[in-house]
Amino acid sequence: MSYSLSSFNSPYFQLEQVADGIYAALAKGGAGAWGNAGIVDLGGQTLVFDTFNTPQAALGLRTVAEQLTGRKVTYVINSHHHSDHIWGNQAFEDATIYATDNTFDLMRTKGVARLERMRSQPIPLQSLEAALELEQDPEQRKDLELYINEMRQVTMALPNLTLRLPDVTFEHRLAFAGSKRTAVLLTFGGGHSPSDAFLYFPEESLAFMSDIVQIGFHPAMGDGNPDEWLRILARIEALQLTTIVPGHGLIGTGQAVGVMGQYIQLLQQMAYAAPSLDELLAVEPPAFCASWQARPVFKENLQFLYNLTHNL
Ligand SMILES: [Zn+2]
Repeated sequence: MSYSLSSFNSPYFQLEQVADGIYAALAKGGAGAWGNAGIVDLGGQTLVFDTFNTPQAALGLRTVAEQLTGRKVTYVINSHHHSDHIWGNQAFEDATIYATDNTFDLMRTKGVARLERMRSQPIPLQSLEAALELEQDPEQRKDLELYINEMRQVTMALPNLTLRLPDVTFEHRLAFAGSKRTAVLLTFGGGHSPSDAFLYFPEESLAFMSDIVQIGFHPAMGDGNPDEWLRILARIEALQLTTIVPGHGLIGTGQAVGVMGQYIQLLQQMAYAAPSLDELLAVEPPAFCASWQARPVFKENLQFLYNLTHNL
């Protein structure tokens, strides 16, 4: 069970305690956080899992982490190289940042290039707003409004945004042992992205899964490998988790792992069986994910899987 800590109100996230000394910082859409993060009081050391989409949201995260644990943040983890999990890194200048070997390489190459590209080509907020004016579907409008607000926060952050790279990298597993609890940083490879890490608490049967498991959100598949993702999910299922903090969405149970696998397999089958791309893209999301957020990602996933299964 989790309970919310309303005294730690933040414009960027909602704080929930998921176990003794372990807190989820659930991103409020469109505020500059975007992906979920976590705060862990290890006893003697404070750890932060992922750093949001902007330095201003990350500063809010750092402030709450310091208030909650009474000390500075010493360890910061980057789960994977996507900006909504790492662009707040610079707010933790005196902490040590950890990522997988592959994530470090991706941040150093693609990550730096992406930031430079975004800085040189301003985000087209006006054309996004024009698209919002034309959009009739209430769900799509909601998604687009959140996205525009988020891009406003990113636009504000970009002039002073620097991509602070990880200090320490690992290949498979790294344990953070404090006087009160141990957090295990693991990677089973890459499925959602080329390299995905998650933070596991064996005693609490709890994990911060980042984007490998998302709850109530269409998970972006285009930067990953769906077969690998399914293999990773099967290994995570064997951990028999009771509590999951997803990369996007609200806290859930271990069942969310199976739901993610079901989603990937179903979309793979749809893409494989589709007579043409046009017919595939005309399909509505199946009932179990019809109300999920990030609806445009559903079509992007289908297109990606169609190209993959038809070797395009
Ligand atoms: Zn991601």
